[in-house]
Amino acid sequence: MRHSELDVIRERLQQRLGELTKRAGKIENDLRQPLNPDWEDRITERENDEVLESLDASTLDEAGQIQEALDRMNAGTYGICLTCGKPVGEKRLEAVPHAATCVGCAS
Ligand SMILES: [Zn+2]
Repeated sequence: MRHSELDVIRERLQQRLGELTKRAGKIENDLRQPLNPDWEDRITERENDEVLESLDASTLDEAGQIQEALDRMNAGTYGICLTCGKPVGEKRLEAVPHAATCVGCAS
């Protein structure tokens, strides 16, 4: 993969990571809101919190995968499948820039 292409992908990943970090911060802020004294409202808020918590988990999960992809870029192993050591493939990286495994190993 050419360096110019890597730079474009790195920029995309860093931008996405920035968005995810911002989103995670906002979710955690919402989760820290004090509980409503009214019971019924409190139940609704609990349900919202559960949605927020799973949102938070998937946000952090994706952020972690992107961070790992950026680490692999720095290490020069980006685009190589972690499982079989073959190229992940440019089409797959275009669709999932933080992919750590090739299509064969991912399924
Ligand atoms: Zn593989």
